[in-house]
Amino acid sequence: MDRIWSAMSSSDMVPPRGILTVNLAPADVSKHGTLFDLPIALGLILAGSAPEGVGWPADHACAGELSLDGRIQPVKGILPFVLAARRSGKKRVIVPAENALEASHVPGVTVYPVGTLTDAVAHAVGTARIKPFVLPQKPRCAAGRREKDLSDVVGQSHAVDALEVAAAGGHNLLMTGPPGCGKTMLAERFTGILPEWSQNLALQSNCIHSLKGLLTEKGWKPYRPFRAPHHTISRAGMLGGGRPIGPGEVSLAHGGVLFLDEFTRFSRSVIEGLREPLQSGKIGISRLRETVTFPAGFQLIAAMNPCPCGWKNTKKRKCTCSDMQKLHYAARLSGPILDRIDMHIELQAVNPASFREGGTRTTRQARQNVLRAIRFRARRNQSVPNAQLTGVELEALASEGALDHVEIIMGSLGLSARSRVRILRVARTCADLEGHRLIQAIDVRKACNNRRLDGLEEKEQDKQKDREEASIDPDSTEPGPLPSESED
Ligand SMILES: [Zn+2]
Repeated sequence: MDRIWSAMSSSDMVPPRGILTVNLAPADVSKHGTLFDLPIALGLILAGSAPEGVGWPADHACAGELSLDGRIQPVKGILPFVLAARRSGKKRVIVPAENALEASHVPGVTVYPVGTLTDAVAHAVGTARIKPFVLPQKPRCAAGRREKDLSDVVGQSHAVDALEVAAAGGHNLLMTGPPGCGKTMLAERFTGILPEWSQNLALQSNCIHSLKGLLTEKGWKPYRPFRAPHHTISRAGMLGGGRPIGPGEVSLAHGGVLFLDEFTRFSRSVIEGLREPLQSGKIGISRLRETVTFPAGFQLIAAMNPCPCGWKNTKKRKCTCSDMQKLHYAARLSGPILDRIDMHIELQAVNPASFREGGTRTTRQARQNVLRAIRFRARRNQSVPNAQLTGVELEALASEGALDHVEIIMGSLGLSARSRVRILRVARTCADLEGHRLIQAIDVRKACNNRRLDGLEEKEQDKQKDREEASIDPDSTEPGPLPSESED
C-alpha cells in the first residue's frame, strides 16, 4: 500500500483520507504479485476524486506495478492475465509499456501501453486517450529451431532413424551410449524435425514462460521449447513449486522437448516425479492450502552412459565396473519410469572413418519424413499420436503376420505384456513412415531394434529381487530403485 500512496503523491493525486478497505474478491483465490498496484490505485482515484458520473470503463482491465515516483513497471504473467481478461469479456487492457508487446499476442483485445500513473488515470477518465499498441507482425508458430542441423551428426544413422520415429509418433526416447558418442548433439537437433505447433499450444507454452518472466524482451517465443536442466536440479525446479507456486522445467518444456542428460544422476525424487506428467501431460502441485495444475505435455529425450565408467558393451575401451556397480546403476531407473519411455536405443562410439562420410541426412529431409508419417496417420483417421494408443487399439491396426511375429519375439526374449504394447506402438509409427495401412512384420522388427532395454530391464528386476533376498543394503553405495509397482 505504501508504494501506491507514494506513487499517487508523486503524481499530484491526493490519496483518500481515513480508513480504506480494498477488497480483492473472490477471497478464496490466492493473489500474489505487484500487478494489483495499478488497479488498486486507479480504483482509489476514481472512487475518490473523479468527476461525477465518471467510473471505471466496463470493457477495460488493467495490471501493473507502481514505482514510488508514479512510473509503471513491467510485471510477470501479462500474457495469461490478458487471456483471462478476454475470457471474462474485457475488450481492452491497460498494461505497462514494457509488457505491451507480450500482451498484444492475444487476438481480439486492444492493448493500451502506459508509462505513468498520470497517463493511466487520464485514459481511464477519458481526458486523454492512449494510442493502442499494434503488433508489428502476426505471431509465428514455427517448429523447433533449426540452427543446428542433423547433418552435423556423423556415424549414428540408427539414432537418426530413431529420432524420426520418436518425432513422428510422439514417443519418449532413452539413448544409452559411451561418453562422446553424440547423444547431446542428437537431442539438440530433435525439435528441428518436429511438426509446427498449433496456435493454441503456442499460446499455452508462451503463457507459462510469461509467468516466469521469460518473455519480456521479445514478447513471444515462436519455437517449440527445448529445455535441458542440469542433473543437480531440485524437485521444485523440475516439477514446479515455490511461493507463489510457479511452473517448473516440465511445464516450461510443454509443447516441446525435455532433454535429461545423465538421466541416472538426477535425484530419485526428481525422476519419479516425472511419472505424473509423462502419464497425463499435466502436473499438480500442492502446498499448504493451495493446489495449482500446470500443463506439462513434453516429449522426454533422456540420455545415459551404459554403466558408471561409461564403456560397458563398447569396443573402444574396457569397462572397469564391478557387477554390483552395474546393477546399482541400472536399478536407478524404476520400472514405472521405463514403462513410460517407448523407445530405448543403444549408441556406439563413432567410428573415425565415418567423419569422412559426413551425416546421413539433413534436418530438412528428416522433417519431411516425419511430416509424411503424420499426414499418413491423419489419413488413417487417427488424431492422437501413436504413443497414446492402447493395446486394444493397436491390435486393430496390425496385420496377423505382425501379431504372430510379436508373439515369437515375446517368447524368445521373455518380454512382458507392457513391452508388447510399447513394441506395437513404435511399430505403428514405423508403419506410418513406410505408408503401411496395417502394421507388418518388418515394422515389428524395426521397432524391436528400438527396444534394447526390454528383457534386460526385466532381468535387472529379477536380479534386484535376488539382491533383496540376499538382504544387501541398497543405500550402501548408490540408492536402489523404488518398488516397481505399475499403474498399467
Ligand atoms: Zn563400466
